[in-house]
Amino acid sequence: MQLPIYLDHAATTPVRPEVIEAMMPYFTEAYGNPSTLYSVGMSAREAVEDAREAIAETLNATPEEIVFTSGGTEANNSAIRGIAEYAGKGHLITTNFEHHAVLDPMEKLEHEGFALTVLPVDREGMVTAQQVADAIRPDTILVSVMHANNEIGTIQPIAEIGALCRERGIVFHTDAVQTFGKLPLDVREQKIDLLSISGHKLYAPKGVGALYVRRGTRLSRFMEGGQQEKGRRGGTLNVPGIVGLGKATLIAREEMASEATRLTALREIFLSQLLSAIPDLKVNGSRTHRLPYNLNLCFPGVEGESVLLALDAMGICAAAGSACTTGSVKPSHVLTAIGLSSDEARSALRLTLGKSTDGGAVEYAAEQIRQIVQGLRSLGQRKQPASV
Ligand SMILES: *Cc1c(COP(=O)(O)O)cnc(C)c1O
Repeated sequence: MQLPIYLDHAATTPVRPEVIEAMMPYFTEAYGNPSTLYSVGMSAREAVEDAREAIAETLNATPEEIVFTSGGTEANNSAIRGIAEYAGKGHLITTNFEHHAVLDPMEKLEHEGFALTVLPVDREGMVTAQQVADAIRPDTILVSVMHANNEIGTIQPIAEIGALCRERGIVFHTDAVQTFGKLPLDVREQKIDLLSISGHKLYAPKGVGALYVRRGTRLSRFMEGGQQEKGRRGGTLNVPGIVGLGKATLIAREEMASEATRLTALREIFLSQLLSAIPDLKVNGSRTHRLPYNLNLCFPGVEGESVLLALDAMGICAAAGSACTTGSVKPSHVLTAIGLSSDEARSALRLTLGKSTDGGAVEYAAEQIRQIVQGLRSLGQRKQPASV
């Protein structure tokens, strides 16, 4: 068995060798600035345009509708601030279990004078189109609902929400960082106006991503500066990163269906092994509307962080909350959004599968988790004999 066993693919993924290979020439011989006219720059520009086309095709968008960014966080911030700043005033709608890269700009805009409705998700971690419909006001300018949640993996009814927003003439943004290249997306069919993606969740490098902007959507510039990206975002393009994202997109598209089937089956095996060893564990989030590669569990009576450290010692990488909030003492806002108490939220563990995960890895991890949870529980009982 090769260690470490990496079960944190929702936090980031390794760059695939084919992706590195595709990127290499753009560090060396094709190093030109893609905005220049001589041939060293031209070949960089062509590579960027190929990547743009690969992403556009995967979304059923046109290449002109893809704007490259530094990642998912920038895509989310640019979408939300871009719409709000262009409109100048109005009402925004989102949910209480979004990534902080959506929630925080929304809350900042509220402080700046915009009206904000934050919809609650239910105990399964789902929001409905009806909730969105009920929240819409005459001055609503933007609805942002993520496609799949990064902690509990629940998949939201974005096509229904998109149809509703289109009907009312409201811009609809979705953070699809966890689903792009993993689940089918069709921005025309799903009536999406803005969609965020990130390279490093998709076996491409960190620090590159994109925002799909439907033609005709009016938003302010992402970044003041040069005229790159049709004037939407100033700044010299991250050519190797963009090439990597394009390559990773093409591979992901090819493998999407088979990987989804494979990972769903592996996840179910993993879960049944864990359930038979630790009968009182609880699955967080919907069992059916769920990302193929996501498991999020509560182990009543133990701290997720303690399980995490013990797992690390055994060569297994997992997560307690999301990686972005690790180190904060507050329990995960996603887990409290689905109604977990602070203690329950602190007993959670997120296990996210990916390309390198196979049956052996899952079996080893399930056995280690069983031993660790049993060990921590007997320790806890010795220390606090009165508590259950
Ligand atoms: C990782 C992640 C982001 C942030 O993307 P970066 O490229 O790391 O900035 C945003 N939203 C979701 C759902 C994520 O999982």
